[in-house]
Amino acid sequence: MRFVCGCALLMVVLSPPVAAQAPIVYRVAFTPEHHYAQVDVTFPNVPAGTLETRMSRSSPGRYALHEYAKNVFEFRAFDGKGRELAPTRPNPYQWDVAGHDGTVRVVYKIYGDHVDGTYLAIDPTHAHMNMPATFLWARGLDRRPIRVAFEPPKGLEWVPATQLFPTGDPWTFSAPNLQYFMDSPMELSAQVIRSFTVRNPDGQDQTIRTALHHDAGDAEVNQYVAGTEKIVREHGAVFGEFPVFDGGVYTFLGDYVPWGGGDGMEHRNSTVVAARVTLRVPGMVQSVLDTVSHEFFHAWNVERIRPRTLEPFNFEEANMSGELWLAEGFTQYYGTLVMGRAGLEDRDEVVADLARAANTVVSSPARRFRSAVAMSQHAPFTDAARSIDANNLSTTFISYYTYGSAIALALDLTLRERSAGKVTLDDYMRAMWRVHGKPGGPEPGLVARPYTLKDARDRLAEVSGDRRFADEFFDKYIEGRDAVDYAPLLRRAGYLFRTRAPGAAWMGGAIDSSGAITSLAGWDTPLFAAGLDQGDVIVDVDGKSIAGGVLQAALKERKPGDRLPITFKRRDGRTGKTTIVLAEDPAMAVAPIESTGVALSAEQKAFRDAWLGSHVKK
Ligand SMILES: [Zn+2]
Repeated sequence: MRFVCGCALLMVVLSPPVAAQAPIVYRVAFTPEHHYAQVDVTFPNVPAGTLETRMSRSSPGRYALHEYAKNVFEFRAFDGKGRELAPTRPNPYQWDVAGHDGTVRVVYKIYGDHVDGTYLAIDPTHAHMNMPATFLWARGLDRRPIRVAFEPPKGLEWVPATQLFPTGDPWTFSAPNLQYFMDSPMELSAQVIRSFTVRNPDGQDQTIRTALHHDAGDAEVNQYVAGTEKIVREHGAVFGEFPVFDGGVYTFLGDYVPWGGGDGMEHRNSTVVAARVTLRVPGMVQSVLDTVSHEFFHAWNVERIRPRTLEPFNFEEANMSGELWLAEGFTQYYGTLVMGRAGLEDRDEVVADLARAANTVVSSPARRFRSAVAMSQHAPFTDAARSIDANNLSTTFISYYTYGSAIALALDLTLRERSAGKVTLDDYMRAMWRVHGKPGGPEPGLVARPYTLKDARDRLAEVSGDRRFADEFFDKYIEGRDAVDYAPLLRRAGYLFRTRAPGAAWMGGAIDSSGAITSLAGWDTPLFAAGLDQGDVIVDVDGKSIAGGVLQAALKERKPGDRLPITFKRRDGRTGKTTIVLAEDPAMAVAPIESTGVALSAEQKAFRDAWLGSHVKK
C-alpha cells in the first residue's frame, strides 16, 4: 500500500495518514543464562476479522530461508480486555488470531544462541538481535509505526546500540514502518561506543558510530576506530558524498568475542560486523577491517542503490535477485580495493585478491551452466542455505561475490583503458547513485527508484558514452557466459596474469595420498573425461601401486598431453582400468611485473597509482 494524494475525493475515503495511527508496541525482556527473550506485542486498531501474525522466513541481506518460527515457544494471544484467545495454525510460520475486540496482544518466548547478522543470540554478555529472527509481525499492518521497549537485565551494565530511532526513554526506540524495523539490528551489551563525523559537500555533518562488544583493550579499540575512519572516508571519495543517514547517524555494530560468530550484514544506517576472535591477537584488528570495508560500501550499494528484485523485501519467501553480481560482487570488489586505497592492505595483496576472483571465473567449469545473473538467482540455495543431501555446486556454481568482483575488476580496468583514465568504475557507481540511490524514498526503509538489469546497462551506456560497448559488455560477460581476457587489462597496471604452472601436467580434482578422489571432478578435466569422480580410488599407475608418492612422481615426470594408464576402484569395491590424458592446469595467478625482472614503466605506474592510490582529498 502506497499513500495516494492529490485528489480531494480520495482524501475523504482514505484512512488517516499512517504516521497518525497508534503504533504497534513491543516489550522485550531477557533471560540471558537460558538464551531466550519474552516478547510482548500489542496490535491496536486491528480491523475486524482474523489477524494473521507471522514469524519471518527470510531476512534482508540474506537470500535463503531461515525459518525463524522454529525457535518460538509458549505462544499466547489475548484481546484488549485480557481475555485469552485461541490462535490457529494455518501454516508453520503463522498464528491466526480471531475473535478479538480490535486489540490483539501476543506474548511468546523465543530462543537464540547464534551470533551473526541473521539470527538471535542471547547470553549473559549480550542480546544480539536480528529483528526478523526475534519479532513476530502482522499481515496488512506493515505501514504502521512501531515502538519497542527493552528491559535490560539487572546488574549487567548493558547499553543499547541500534539504527532504530531514539525516544525520550533510553530503552525505548521507534521505527516508521515494518521494513525499517526489520532492517534495524540491535546490540545490547557492555559495549564501547565511539564516534566521529564526516562532512558532505553541502556542509552537513553526519555521525559515524562504532559500537564494540569485545574483550580487548583501549589500544585495539583505538586502532579499530582509526582504521574504520580511513575506510569510511575512502568509500566517501568513491561516490563524492555520503548518503544522508536517517537520523544523521550510521552505526557499526561490532561483535568480536571468542564465543561469537563471523559475519557482516548490511542495513540502511548500520551494519553487523562480527568475528569469533579476540582483538587482542596481533594483526586481528587489521584482519576484521576487511568486512568493515565491504559492509560500508553497502550503505550505498544495495541499501540505497537497490535492485528492484529486493524492494520491498519479502519476509515470507526466499528473495531471488539476478543483480547480486552487482549488489554483492561490486561491493566485494570495492571492499578490497578500498582497503588498498586506505593504506590498510598492501597493493600487491589487493591485486592478488582481485585476480583470484578473475581466475575463478576464467577457469571454473561452472561458467558453462550459468551467467553472473543466473549465479545470482541461485543464491537462495547457497547463501547460508542448508540441506542435508549432496549437491554439485562446486562444479556448477560460482559465488556471485566472486563473479561480480571479477566483473567489476574487468569493467574498472576496461573503462580506464578506453578513456585514458578519465572514466572509471567510480563514475559508474556515482551514476547509479545519482539516478537510483540519492533520490531516496517516501519513508526511511523504502527506496523509490530501485534499478533493473536494464537500468544497470543503461547507466553503463551513459557513463561510457558508448551504447554498443555497454550492450556488448552486458551481453557477453553479465547476461552471457564469456570470460574477460584479464591479462592485457592487468598489464596496463603492471601486473602479469598468467597460468600458474606452465608446462606442468594436471588431472583436475583433489586426490589424497591413498589415491582417493576427494572432490567432484570438474567438467572436462582429465579425471572427468577418464570416467573418474569423487569416491573413486586410484589404486595403481602404469601397473605400480600408488603407495609412497608414485602418483605424484608420475605427474611430475609427464607433460600435458601424456597418457597415464591407471587402475581404479569404485565405491562398491569393483575395479576397472582407464587412461587419463593429462592437461595443463588452467589456473591463473598474478604477479607484479617488477617481481619478474621487468621494469615497471612510467605509464604502468601512473595507471596503478590512479587505480589503487588514495582518492581522499587531503
Ligand atoms: Zn555484502
